[in-house]
Amino acid sequence: MKKAVILLSGGLDSTTVLFRAIAAGYSCYALSFDYGQRHRRELMAAQEIAQLGSVVEHQVVRFDLGAWGGSALTDLAIALPEHRSLETMGQGIPVTYVPARNTIFLSFALGYAEAIAATEVHIGVNALDYSGYPDCRGDYIEAMQRVYELGTKQGREGRPIQIITPLIDRSKGDIIQLGNELGVPWEKTWSCYSQGVGENPVRACGVCDSCQLRLAAFAALGLKDPLPYALA
Ligand SMILES: [Zn+2]
Repeated sequence: MKKAVILLSGGLDSTTVLFRAIAAGYSCYALSFDYGQRHRRELMAAQEIAQLGSVVEHQVVRFDLGAWGGSALTDLAIALPEHRSLETMGQGIPVTYVPARNTIFLSFALGYAEAIAATEVHIGVNALDYSGYPDCRGDYIEAMQRVYELGTKQGREGRPIQIITPLIDRSKGDIIQLGNELGVPWEKTWSCYSQGVGENPVRACGVCDSCQLRLAAFAALGLKDPLPYALA
């Protein structure tokens, strides 16, 4: 059975990537990061989803990108954008961009993958989701693939670990359709950039970019997102 490290944030995209890998028969090793994000609620989702997905192992790596901030996700002094239209979201790189986050994540994933002799790293990056994040684009992934080839024993010995990006060219609507085919439990996922609102159950805010994008995609398909929202 092929071993793959799956980057699992607990959100809609990474959960779909995990379920896809499970359906394809991979032996899955989930990897999550407790990096000082304001929405640590997503880690609870990742934990639950990893269990549901029967992963072989779920590693949670802890470090604090809040030490230097630089993003609305790691610095509470930078406000989360709210109520933005999809058109506005499509312009420029938003303040929710976390400096070099995917380079940091993919580096940890590479170390983990080589240590357990995995052959692939799966990441749910998506170049079409309006975010404008530079570390979600195809040319960036190609460059990281080169790092995977040159920076490891496995790579230099001719067995480089491959970065797999099953969602890179898919719209959010496509991803939801794929997830539905795979039986992804959307109500267990957490996409909101905030910690959520209220208690038991905590509800997603419904107004941050990530909530807006997710809600719009479900609505466009004529579906109802089963995640509880405060303001949707
Ligand atoms: Zn939200």
